[in-house]
Amino acid sequence: MVIASSDMNMRAKTKLIIGILCLMGLAFGRGINPTAPDTETVSAPEYMGAMTMASSVREIKKTPITVVPRKTDGNKDTKSRLEVHYIDVGQGDSSLIICDNEAMLVDAGDESKGTAIQLYLKKHNIERLKYVVATHPDADHIGGLDVIVYKFDCGQILIPNCSNDTPSFDRLIYSVKAKGYSPHIVDVGEKYSLGSAVIEILSPSSEFIFSDTNDSSIIFRLDHGSNSFLFTGDATIPPQQALIFDPDLDADTDVIKVPHHGAATAYIKGFYDEVSPEYAVISCGRKNPYGHPRQEVLDDLKNRGTKLYRTDEQGTVIATSDGKKITFNTSPSSTWKPGEEENSDKTVRKSDSAVTRVFQHNLSDPPEPSVTYVYNKNTGKFHYPGCSSVTDMSPKNRADMYCSREELIKTYPDAKPCKRCNP
Ligand SMILES: [Zn+2]
Ligand SMILES: [Zn+2]
Repeated sequence: MVIASSDMNMRAKTKLIIGILCLMGLAFGRGINPTAPDTETVSAPEYMGAMTMASSVREIKKTPITVVPRKTDGNKDTKSRLEVHYIDVGQGDSSLIICDNEAMLVDAGDESKGTAIQLYLKKHNIERLKYVVATHPDADHIGGLDVIVYKFDCGQILIPNCSNDTPSFDRLIYSVKAKGYSPHIVDVGEKYSLGSAVIEILSPSSEFIFSDTNDSSIIFRLDHGSNSFLFTGDATIPPQQALIFDPDLDADTDVIKVPHHGAATAYIKGFYDEVSPEYAVISCGRKNPYGHPRQEVLDDLKNRGTKLYRTDEQGTVIATSDGKKITFNTSPSSTWKPGEEENSDKTVRKSDSAVTRVFQHNLSDPPEPSVTYVYNKNTGKFHYPGCSSVTDMSPKNRADMYCSREELIKTYPDAKPCKRCNP
């Protein structure tokens, strides 16, 4: 249940700021900081599809207005207890939040993790999820959610105004429809209750559609007594700038889940100045091919004395709040070791100049993962991105891959290497 909605002038202003920043991001940011989605990119017509879905669910969400203070009453009830489980799902995200016998799940890792999350919830005696949040439609966040939607009683399914042309998104939508649920598109300023804790949506606005699925990530602050936790999905620079510049959006928190698994393209120092986190959690896979987390993110957190927890080193990290104090199930990480990008030697050795250029660029300007292969959904062949066949490929058939050769073949078991570029 949405329990509050903020003053309309504030919301209109917030939307204006986000809109301007989005446009700035589109006009300038992309050139400087190419964003690499976790999976495939989405073309304009697919966003039109998202808009249709958005308008069809929008009428269900209008809400009564109540004012909820920033500090919740979690500290009045000495028995109130909040647990935030940052579940180890390898490369991806999944967080379970439990407060006073109510539970919510934020993402469920990739499609191989749905059953593991199901068992994790069962182990914690959870049968009902008051909220299921799909932060954004990338496979490493929503891939396992269809299992959860099928197996659990889900109160409200919260989504951003964004869709994706991927099998994992299709499966999620199918499961939601099959169970007769109507997803709710969130909007900045909305508040939700979970036990004595309160969740405030900080991004995105339901009225904007970002060009990048990561930027459509639902960002929310969870308040429990005087403690607060920030969830950021894979949001990169534009939504973070909105939080920095909009005085009505309060991102100052005790615990931040670091945006986009600690990627460099999702890092701006100003955001951490704004959040001033005492604790940070990074969810990423051991030896993930993207090289998450990046050195500059770790350096910033280290320099400001933030205690860091990492699922790749420590497994599932659990934070517990009594409304006054936050404790963790493990000691902070002390390695400050960045991820290493998957060894690209094999690819660089190929004489394909476009491929070589991509990796040389990466060495001087450590970046997000680049496209490693391009798969043609029609012919079933895969290519190096620089192959001449790729230039002629219809966008409809083209799937840009950001993974190793083995992972590509796991995704498309019938994939055959192109005879021209011989990947
Ligand atoms: Zn992700
Ligand atoms: Zn993503």
